[in-house]
Amino acid sequence: MQFCLLCGLCYFRMKMRHDSAGEAGNSTFLHIPPRRASCRLRRKGAEAVKKRNDSPDFVPENDDFSYQDGYQDNPQGDSPDEYDPNWADDDDPVEVAGQADMFAHEDFWNASADDSEALPEEEKVYKRSIFKPEMKKPNFVLSIAVNVIRIFAVLVLVAGLAAVGAVVGIAKGYMETAPTLDLAAIDDQAQTSFIYDANGNLITEYKGSENRVIVSIQAMPTYLQHAFIAVEDARFYTHNGVDIKRIIGAFVSNLSSSSTQGGSTITQQLIKNTLLSSEQSYKRKIQEAYLAMQLETRYTKDQILESYLNTIYLGENYYGVYTAAQGYFGKSLGELTLRECAMLAGTCNSPYYYNPRRNFYTRQKEGVDYPAITNDRTNYVLRCMYENQYITYEQYQEALDPATAHVLEKDPNTATGMYAYAHYVEYAVDEVIDILLQLNNLEDTSANRNAMENKLRTGGYHVQLAIDTSIQSTVEDTLENWTNYPTLRDPADKVYRTRNSDGTYDETVEPQAAAVVVDYHTGEIKAIVGSRTRPTAMKTFNRAVDMTMPVGSSIKPIAVYAPAIELGASPASIVMNMPLPISGWRGSNGQDSWPRNYGGSSYAGPETLRKALVNSHNTAAAQALMTLVGVDNSVAFLHAMGIDDAHIDATPFGLSLGSSGITPMQMAVAFGVLANGGVYQQPISVLGISDSTGKVIWDGHQQQERHRVFSESTAYMVVDMLKQAVSSGTGTNAKIKGQTVAGKTGTNSDQKGVFFAGMTGYYSSALWVGHDNYKALSSKSTGSRSAAPLWQSYMSKIHQGLSNRDILEGSASDYGLVKVTTCAVSGQLATDACRSDAMGYGVVTDYWKAGTEPTVSCQMHTTQTICSVSGLLASPYCPDTVTRGVLTIPSGHPLASFIGTEYEDVLIEYLGSYAVLGASGTCPYHTSASSSGSNTMVENTLIPDAKILLSQAYAQLQSMDIVNDAQRYSAIQSAITNLEYVISLPAPTTAEVASAMGQLTQAMAGLY
Ligand SMILES: [Zn+2]
Ligand SMILES: [Zn+2]
Repeated sequence: MQFCLLCGLCYFRMKMRHDSAGEAGNSTFLHIPPRRASCRLRRKGAEAVKKRNDSPDFVPENDDFSYQDGYQDNPQGDSPDEYDPNWADDDDPVEVAGQADMFAHEDFWNASADDSEALPEEEKVYKRSIFKPEMKKPNFVLSIAVNVIRIFAVLVLVAGLAAVGAVVGIAKGYMETAPTLDLAAIDDQAQTSFIYDANGNLITEYKGSENRVIVSIQAMPTYLQHAFIAVEDARFYTHNGVDIKRIIGAFVSNLSSSSTQGGSTITQQLIKNTLLSSEQSYKRKIQEAYLAMQLETRYTKDQILESYLNTIYLGENYYGVYTAAQGYFGKSLGELTLRECAMLAGTCNSPYYYNPRRNFYTRQKEGVDYPAITNDRTNYVLRCMYENQYITYEQYQEALDPATAHVLEKDPNTATGMYAYAHYVEYAVDEVIDILLQLNNLEDTSANRNAMENKLRTGGYHVQLAIDTSIQSTVEDTLENWTNYPTLRDPADKVYRTRNSDGTYDETVEPQAAAVVVDYHTGEIKAIVGSRTRPTAMKTFNRAVDMTMPVGSSIKPIAVYAPAIELGASPASIVMNMPLPISGWRGSNGQDSWPRNYGGSSYAGPETLRKALVNSHNTAAAQALMTLVGVDNSVAFLHAMGIDDAHIDATPFGLSLGSSGITPMQMAVAFGVLANGGVYQQPISVLGISDSTGKVIWDGHQQQERHRVFSESTAYMVVDMLKQAVSSGTGTNAKIKGQTVAGKTGTNSDQKGVFFAGMTGYYSSALWVGHDNYKALSSKSTGSRSAAPLWQSYMSKIHQGLSNRDILEGSASDYGLVKVTTCAVSGQLATDACRSDAMGYGVVTDYWKAGTEPTVSCQMHTTQTICSVSGLLASPYCPDTVTRGVLTIPSGHPLASFIGTEYEDVLIEYLGSYAVLGASGTCPYHTSASSSGSNTMVENTLIPDAKILLSQAYAQLQSMDIVNDAQRYSAIQSAITNLEYVISLPAPTTAEVASAMGQLTQAMAGLY
């Protein structure tokens, strides 16, 4: 093959061919624009376009054909009859503008082709254009004209050479200022990162604006490689980075038109795509060629092709063949059909114009066959492959069937525009950013965070999360489909409007909910759900980790009871659940005060920590905090469980009653500390990170922080108390059939949100339900009614098929615990007097850490004969007496300070008159024989007392849990009935009334 210099300058090339007329030995030079000459299919495509052009609607520059470099078929398609495969090689279709000029130009050269100075004189005689085969000698006039044109052509050539000389000088300067050939810069293209679940299944890609995945050349099907080579750079394997003919051709063609056009090899395109700006200038082109040749000396052809195919832009946000195959076809590279390979290769020349998805699904216009644009282009690539002998004729024919390529209507990875498990993924991304900051020794500033996020989006990392997608989905589904959310007290609060910066409003349905599930054995976070419905946008408010809504009584186990027990108490330790001032608990008047119990009642006198926790008594929790723990200690324990100051209201109120805004995440983790035997494990959402080369740069468990917060014995005791809170306390709605469950309800003051935090033998989890703007739920809403059932709902689904497993395995003695029976009032070792306590407090048997159990017998109880009516030492005239243990408040006891104060009545009410009056108090009602039978005595004293007692009994019934305290409830009810009957009698005797009152008093105290 020879090349005519003139033609080369014109970007046309010549081809020597044998004259079809059979002029043996005569060679003819052709001048064919390379793209028209490339292959036959091209012509078929051109015909198709020609047909389309018949439609007045078809204009390539139509509404959405705005791509400047858009390829346009040549409607004047005219090519050699024979096809030389070599012709296909430098088909570089990036040329539209000026094409008409070129064809005009072509006619000119056709008429004067024999002026080529590149040919020996004698050959010129025979040289004729094949377009207009001259079978006879030209006439004289024509001969003159041809000579004139020849002279003109020579002049043009000379001028052109002079220009080239000047350009060479400039080019030298350009080369000297070319960017350094930084091989790393090519390898370091932005790469998509991947996020996987705990089982290694892909959850989502995490990427910047460029969606790029680097795969090795071995992973790319040969057909795919050949499709690109055939259509973009057929001489790829033989040139040295630059195809001189193309460069010159493109250069001159640019001189002759207003646009700058490419003539780039794959190597040059790689340089252009990766190292240089996409600015169209001669400077860039020269630098590009210079660098391409350098690149070829350092890289193998396969390395260059691999880089090229990994970086080439293929439409949408696909960079590289991997993401394009995934995006267009939902396939990995190995699954691509031949036609799909060809379609990808055909797209790269004008990714917008040829975008298969757009042409097949999006672009629509009456009478315009957009799919044909992609299909013709694809057929053209196939033809080139066939002509270059990369595929057989049969393969070629088969691949022409459009059905062998299936373009997806939507990118499978961005079908909803949103990744799955958004709140979890976003939490994990934040954790990855923390990790990258740490690995790069960077300060935690917002600028650095942004930089690290960008690094994640473009660094090609592989991040494995701890998420259990089945658990995550279960929680998401349950929260989304739950039909028993509490109502809002004010129905207007049902929709919460927030104003956006652009003046629009977002409306959120209320109440909202958030939940977290943690595998406390490992610290792995299994689910994070930050809203009732799945987020439809990225980075929406994640209530599970970002909100600061008070958790109510759910805080008590972690801020009060566990610390109290760790500091030496036992579940049997006694606190006073009585309306008495607590030292250090300031009321609004600045004086010592106490918090009311929920509903304003439920004062129960002395009670154990266990009972106080199980029944969620506020007054007792406050007492426990102030007398057994202290604010500073409580805060220190919360810190140790991973709760930071921003989420701690470091006040008696905030710590014992839960006005601290602890997140569901922190709660799930803190409850997990108890379930994990007292050892805190940093919650992790990221199991591991490897970089783009597969090197592990982070092992989540290796780096995980662990430390002991509570001794194992403390953990065991508190978990045991929390089990009871679920089996018979406020958390009964959280029971899961066949599973051990422990947990604690929480209700904000005024029902502004409800909470449940708990654990099973497998997971810990915390759930919040409430209003985003802290509005009140209906007055019936409690953690027990409105949070525990929802928690139960998703947790029971999560535990389906799991066998029962204890939270802390082993027996109490394994944890160094002993069971001791103690007095329920003094907390000291129980005596017979304690057991027969007149007030019904009795004794309790519970765990103590061995060595800390009480050693002294109860100092408060003594056995006395007392009057059933007055509760005081019986006089000889008392009609009904019992022998019971009665209480004395020893001097030095904290309660002793209330004797003789306004709170003395409280002591009498909850501890009995004897506690205050002691031995000096003898029954005042029955002072003589007559008093025992006096109707006056009955009417004036006993019946009013009985009525007061009845009203107290009714109040107690109202505050009781009928289900869990059924026996006591019915005992009180029947005692009420009996007393009411007795006082309704015409003339009840003292003994009758006193006996009925005694029965009721005992029923109310739990003695029946
Ligand atoms: Zn006692
Ligand atoms: Zn009496």
